[in-house]
Formats: sequence, structure tokens, C-alpha cells
Amino acid sequence: MPARPRGKLNIIRVGVLALQGDVREHLAAFRRCGAEAMTVRSADEFDEVDALAIPGGESTTMSKLLAAFNLEKPLRRRLDAGMPTLTTCAGLILLSREIVDGRPDQLATGTLDLTVRRNAYGSQVDSFEADLVLSELGDPPFRGVFIRAPRIHTWGAGVEVLASVGGEPVAVRQGLHVGLTFHPEMTGDDRIHQLFLEQLESARTEDAA
Ligand code: GLN
Repeated sequence: MPARPRGKLNIIRVGVLALQGDVREHLAAFRRCGAEAMTVRSADEFDEVDALAIPGGESTTMSKLLAAFNLEKPLRRRLDAGMPTLTTCAGLILLSREIVDGRPDQLATGTLDLTVRRNAYGSQVDSFEADLVLSELGDPPFRGVFIRAPRIHTWGAGVEVLASVGGEPVAVRQGLHVGLTFHPEMTGDDRIHQLFLEQLESARTEDAA
């Protein structure tokens, strides 16, 4: 077999959907981990990336913006083709199978086999922090920042739970998709971005083998 090209060509290029939320923080985290990172806000840009991160924000608004900018189709097309994703909070809601307390017309692509309830921690504690134990990350625990976070009520057999709070998943993995109900970009701890990239690397290596 011919040798695979080396160097820059092999660098993973991650897109960050740039409609709302902590776009800059996600770009910076991926770059610190050695990936290329670019904003995605046009149909063509979906084709320029190996993987996509969808930040938090307001899932109803992001859903409307995707429709308004004609981005729903290109997003679905790439998801159907197996593009890996790292989603946080509102991003995870958009990729879920079923949304409770959402707007009837809001997007739920079904990429992640999850039922989620929006804003489900109630107004008293709708923002909180918790130390999360993710076995793959080792010590120290990951500081999870939850902001009007959804709760994952049900998850399918293909969904692996990476971390839980009160017995409910807050970090999940389904194939090459990682979904979080908290905001890993806010703490300067890049271990989850790193984990996501490492998975992509090993999937590439397996493909090439
Ligand atoms: N409450 C938001 C929603 O339902 C999600 C909050 C977040 O992304 N931090 O979309």
C-alpha cells in the first residue's frame, strides 16, 4: 500500500458551528490540542471539516438560525454521512432523538439516541458546577459547568455513559459522537476536546490499517 501523506495533511480539521455560543473558546481549545479549527456558518464550510463541534446556546434559536441560513440540509447530509460531533448543551439537544419541553418545530436530528428535557434542573439550580469523574480522563475530576442544562432521560443501547450526575448521564458517547450537557470550553481544561480528537485519530488509523 502506498504510504499515507504525512504532516499537515493528516491534521484533523474541526469545524465549530458558529451561530451562537462559545465559538471562540471551542476553536481555541481544539487549537491548543493541535487540531486545525475553523468556524462553520455556510453550506460549503460543512464540507471542509472532518468533524463538527456544536456549542451551547439556546437550542430553539439555533434551530431557527439553521433554518434561516439554509444550513439544516447540509448539516443533516454530513451527519448522515457519519461526520463525528462534539456537542455541548444546546448542541446536544439539537442532535437528540426526542426533546421534552422543546418547541414542536425545533430540530432534533436523532443522531444521538437520547431523550432530553430542556431546562430540566429548574430555576433554583438552573446553573451549577459539579466535579465529574470520567474514567478515561483519570485524575483530577473534570469541573462541569452546567448552564440551564438539559437532562438526559433515556438513552439507547448504543449510548455509552462517560459521566453522570445523580445517576443521570451528563457525558455520553455514541460511536464517534461525544455529547455533553455541560460546558467544557469554559474551564480551560482541554481533556474532553483532546479525548474527542484522540478518538478521531484512532478511527483514522484503523481505517488506514
Ligand atoms: N437551555 C438551553 C436550551 O434549551 C441550553 C442551555 C445551554 O446551551 N447552555 O437550548
